[in-house]
Amino acid sequence: MFEFSNVTKVYKNKFTAVNDISFKIEKGSFSFIVGKSGAGKTTLIKLLIKEVDPTEGKIIFNNQDITKLSHRQIPLHRRKVGVIFQDFRLLDKKTVYENIAFAMEMVGHTPKNIRREVPTVLSMVGLSDKANNFPNELAGGEQQRIAIARAVVNKPDLIIADEPTGNLDPETSYEIMKIFSEINRRGTTVLMVTHDRAIVDTMKKRVIELKNGRIIRDTEEGDYYHDL
Ligand code: ADP
Repeated sequence: MFEFSNVTKVYKNKFTAVNDISFKIEKGSFSFIVGKSGAGKTTLIKLLIKEVDPTEGKIIFNNQDITKLSHRQIPLHRRKVGVIFQDFRLLDKKTVYENIAFAMEMVGHTPKNIRREVPTVLSMVGLSDKANNFPNELAGGEQQRIAIARAVVNKPDLIIADEPTGNLDPETSYEIMKIFSEINRRGTTVLMVTHDRAIVDTMKKRVIELKNGRIIRDTEEGDYYHDL
């Protein structure tokens, strides 16, 4: 799916946020990225969606070195990646239906496709009955489910979730994780940054731990980090 080879990111102020990282994520896998604040997790995500470029190293995504993409090619790359954030980032003046439809319009889907796909993803996240509500009329867990529906509607190859349960209570978090598991079961690669120890310990998935911009642990069926 994608591979980092000796990737280093030095920001303009000379700070090295990611330091000589190499790892490979297989198609269809589910992996957690853990590490304290400042470890380099967000930078890693930004590198993947080409919001920042590495200072050194290569990032191969679907057999293509994305560090070499031209400006013109970036939108096409980003369509292959769906990102979900801790704070949902829904458009508050659009209804649930319109939020998802808008994501499809942005990449040029036909109205017919949109009318077919929006109800399908709403049903997948169990919120068909909220199509005409506005985001602020929904609970946090429901808003996150809408954000997930929006991220998957364009059928990305990779889903990146940046602390998706950070604002949710344990029970709601568990429901959200069931949706991610189902998305993964249907074949989409999932990469999740999290501080949620209970979730990582329960899921028994690959855990990559970052510290000071380096990978200090990479275990299959791992537990949450213990480097406190
Ligand atoms: P995390 O997501 O694990 O908290 P980040 O990738 O956000 O880590 O940050 C890693 C380090 O890089 C931090 O020390 C942060 O202060 C620094 N950093 C992040 N973005 C920038 C930037 N644009 N310019 C300079 N330093 C940055």
